[in-house]
Amino acid sequence: MKLIFLGPPGAGKGTQAELTSQRFGVAHISTGDMLRAEMREGTKLGLEAKAYVERGELVPDDVIMGMIAERILKADCAGGYLFDGFPRTIAQAEALSKISDIDIVINLEVPPEVIVRRIGGRRMCAGCGACFHTSTFDGDFCDKCGAALYTRDDDKPETVANRIEVYERKTKPLVEFYQKLGLLRTVDASGSPQSVQERIDALLGDIR
Ligand code: AMP
Repeated sequence: MKLIFLGPPGAGKGTQAELTSQRFGVAHISTGDMLRAEMREGTKLGLEAKAYVERGELVPDDVIMGMIAERILKADCAGGYLFDGFPRTIAQAEALSKISDIDIVINLEVPPEVIVRRIGGRRMCAGCGACFHTSTFDGDFCDKCGAALYTRDDDKPETVANRIEVYERKTKPLVEFYQKLGLLRTVDASGSPQSVQERIDALLGDIR
């Protein structure tokens, strides 16, 4: 199974991608997580990406495509993979079509007030990158690895506004791109992670 999760910041792509990857035993490829890991480790790529990520801008397509081309060759991708936060531009989608086929694109749709609420309460683990929300988890340390939780710099309100604007301008055209290819399925992504997961499972039943 090769799948893409599409949707604005705060739609729940990371949460649903993680749940789906566990249930179907496919690799979870999050370009945002990969970039944050590079930034934490202070690699050349991480330093290059930092300025873009902190402003809520997109990292250049060639940098992202280099990461993806390498990632999908890893052993854990042999049984399939799902992309979370990639592709984010038409150029990335076109480049992807040259290196991988895709079975389905799940477009997570949420109203603006849900986006604001979800991003506002989001906390990340500095150790393993797990994602939490203050409405369901009130600790300061990760329950998986014990490291401290923090608020992403790019989750600050002024940066979030830019990320949403960038989504509308550069990423939303992918909805039509994948619709034309007959791959797009739109899911109502408001509600609990569990209820959204059930809607996604219903779509994936045929593909497994
Ligand atoms: P995310 O964790 O998916 O919200 O991504 C966080 C940030 O990483 C984004 O706001 C971008 O700056 C950068 N980023 C992640 N994925 C991509 C991508 N596919 N193309 C360009 N920039 C990306």
